[in-house]
Amino acid sequence: MSGVDGFRAELREFLERQVPESLRGHSGAEMGFWGGRKPELPHPESKRFCLMMAERGLTAPTWPKEYGGGGLDAAHAKVLGEELGRLRLPVPLTGFGLQMIGPTLLQFGTEAQKQEHLPKIIRGDIRWCQGYSEPNAGSDLASLQTAAKIEGDEIILNGQKVWTSYGDKSDWMFALTRTDGSAKKQQGITFLLFDMAQPGVEVRPIKLISGNSPFCETFLTDARAKLSNVINGVGNGWEVAKALLGHERNMIGNVFGGGGPRGAAPSSGPPKNALAELARSYIGDQNGKLADPVLRDRVVQVSMDHRCFLLTMQRSADGAKAGQRPGPESSIFKIYGTELNQRREELMLSLRGPQSLGWEGEAFSREELEQTRTWLRSRGNTIEGGTSEVQLNIIAKRVLELPD
Ligand SMILES: Cc1cc2nc3c(=O)[nH]c(=O)nc-3n(C[C@H](O)[C@H](O)[C@H](O)COP(=O)(O)OP(=O)(O)OC[C@H]3O[C@@H](n4cnc5c(N)ncnc54)[C@H](O)[C@@H]3O)c2cc1C
Repeated sequence: MSGVDGFRAELREFLERQVPESLRGHSGAEMGFWGGRKPELPHPESKRFCLMMAERGLTAPTWPKEYGGGGLDAAHAKVLGEELGRLRLPVPLTGFGLQMIGPTLLQFGTEAQKQEHLPKIIRGDIRWCQGYSEPNAGSDLASLQTAAKIEGDEIILNGQKVWTSYGDKSDWMFALTRTDGSAKKQQGITFLLFDMAQPGVEVRPIKLISGNSPFCETFLTDARAKLSNVINGVGNGWEVAKALLGHERNMIGNVFGGGGPRGAAPSSGPPKNALAELARSYIGDQNGKLADPVLRDRVVQVSMDHRCFLLTMQRSADGAKAGQRPGPESSIFKIYGTELNQRREELMLSLRGPQSLGWEGEAFSREELEQTRTWLRSRGNTIEGGTSEVQLNIIAKRVLELPD
């Protein structure tokens, strides 16, 4: 036995024998381990699992071996996903390091930058956040004003970032800054990395309607970055910024669009439609069909669209050449995946009726209380990583090449 089959057999044995059994059945997104200097543990074994997978390069399966990655091609990486899914294990590590700055460093980083940052991302040592948006620079990102002044081998940073997701939990930031205020908007932007554990960095959480504080304002007052942590050279940050957004949009489309209703995927037996199961438990059956014909129609439509979306993402992943980077087409996945997620959340709300509008109290189950919050959270899906309107502009101009 060799090739993909041999890899599968070895991997299966490793996962079954060595990975703590208590992790099985915990594949939900909430079990994602984000790493960092002060890591939050969604499960007591999360960190140990991450490290044992990282030792084999399996937290970043397709990254080159010289930085600690697995060096796997797409076919082998797919096997890893399948085998984790078979045991319903969580992904060993997630976060903006693996999904955004890591792939960007592979493309634009110098050898020294890759050697410094990639192994720490792979082991989950450092948690990263994204410093792009500012109070006057969101969709019009190139208007950003955070000042970056070169002094010797350092860059001094002054300004404000906003909507920094998990800024309060992160160790390092990848940020867009302005090194030249007189140049054209897109020029004079510098992409750099800095350690947030320093006096000039103040992070203030923003509380949302959902009650959570997933993002923050970040104030920079004479904060310092090393010149050696500028990516792609001073003034050449816009190109890096756009490439990273491609990874971000793929990630967002994948995470939200690929999701499906929570806690329903069976580990064995014929696959069930989790949305239909949920509908049945709240609405009930009539003659073997969902009792409400309008909701039945919506369940079928969303289920079919979800299935088609998953297959399209899979086809795109299978067809991508090794190391191929996301192009402007990532906007299609972003817009479709996030709008699908919102439709699905709205539908689950309709299915559960008033039971999905609880905030606290014993009249509601844990899942129902969670539903209220995930529905509210889903409103941001079509804004984060670039709004749906901005994605439509990109698709029109750069994919379809329509005139202005
Ligand atoms: C959940 C969430 C997480 C986020 N995390 C981060 C993060 O970690 N780091 C970070 O840097 N940022 C983050 N953001 C910020 C996000 O990138 C911005 O909110 C987004 O780019 C939109 O910018 P804005 O909020 O300033 O809205 P604006 O740009 O002010 O847009 C307002 C409205 O105008 C529309 N609009 C603007 N320009 C055009 C145009 N040219 N054509 C048509 N319509 C247009 C928009 O679609 C929108 O409806 C996050 C946002 C959310 C919701």
